[in-house]
Amino acid sequence: MATDPTKMKFATKAIHAGVAPDPSTGAIMTPVFQTSTYVQEKVGAHKGFEYSRTGNPTRQALEQNIAALENGTYGLCFGSGMAATDAVIKLLSPGDEVVSTSDLYGGTYRLYTKIFAKYGIKFHFVGMESPEKVAEYINEHTKLIWVESPTNPMLNIIDIAGMAALARQHNCLLAVDNTFATPYLQNPLDLGADMVMHSVTKYLGGHSDVVMGALVCNDQALAEKLYFIQNSSGAVCGPMDSFLVLRGIKTLHLRMQRHCENGRAIAGFLQDHPAVNRVYWPGIASHPNHELAKTQMRDFGGMMSFTLKEDNLEAAMQVVERVKIFSLAESLGGVESLIGHPASMTHASIPKAEREKTGVVDSLIRLSVGVEDAGDLIADLAQALG
Ligand SMILES: *Cc1c(COP(=O)(O)O)cnc(C)c1O
Repeated sequence: MATDPTKMKFATKAIHAGVAPDPSTGAIMTPVFQTSTYVQEKVGAHKGFEYSRTGNPTRQALEQNIAALENGTYGLCFGSGMAATDAVIKLLSPGDEVVSTSDLYGGTYRLYTKIFAKYGIKFHFVGMESPEKVAEYINEHTKLIWVESPTNPMLNIIDIAGMAALARQHNCLLAVDNTFATPYLQNPLDLGADMVMHSVTKYLGGHSDVVMGALVCNDQALAEKLYFIQNSSGAVCGPMDSFLVLRGIKTLHLRMQRHCENGRAIAGFLQDHPAVNRVYWPGIASHPNHELAKTQMRDFGGMMSFTLKEDNLEAAMQVVERVKIFSLAESLGGVESLIGHPASMTHASIPKAEREKTGVVDSLIRLSVGVEDAGDLIADLAQALG
């Protein structure tokens, strides 16, 4: 049996929660249970596992580990972040409505508008500056509020506790996409959210080698509905990927410390650079949500965006093509630094007029600052902006 994770600090949980030496061999690392089925002594007499879509010991160890990191009771892992979000929306029925932040991961917008809208679920995309503004879109059909904070790619901060109070008041659920913050920086369940969603692909995996998603919640009835959807729809992750993420999470706290340090150094450098117009990083005192960020986050992470004084596509393309240590790629949260151009990459599926309303202009560049040497990263950006 693993030790009680609720009594552990974050770093201890990252390494020990959900995992225990293998009872049959003493192996300290959770084995990769690469099996689809489990032998039963007689009908119904099994050791808790029957079929790996329903449950797999490697996946279960990871699910318990991620649940503990989010100070939650129930964890579920999926084949991708989108599969996790898909499971949340499958809680709903035709006629139900969702109020979602408008400053949203592009794939989530696509899932809502191109897949679930045709099943009769209605989505409102709203700038979530305040609970009052969100309240205007809530009616008797509203079943879910969907928050992403910090948002992608504008790094806006949404008041999670405020949205949780609003959701309670209107008897609907609050789900928070906590991918950017990670449980190291922010715990939405502690702020009153009902569900936390992660693209595990990003910081939790941390090494750009796995695509995976996760959900965490505290309510047993809600967890049972989600497990039913996970098992029925079947978008589970495999045991090898579960093993890799368990390994990645063991250094989550160390990586996040460095992501935050490097993020601070690079945000400072960009702010002072003559070619840069604006830097979007919640740790900057002039960031419009800096005070709010300080109340719900422990530090500010390694994700940031910036615009150029020369606000056009060509100028942005030059920067993203000139960098040498930063790699031009989608995704984020790995140990290596990435650079991206949201308007033509992650947010290409959002219409131009729609994306520009939220600030995704042509010169916007997004950085996922990795854990390399900060001086090397700054020198790379300096030559690319030069
Ligand atoms: C990547 C990402 C997703 C989607 O996750 P996948 O693992 O790619 O399916 C959702 N939300 C955010 C904020 C993301 O960065």
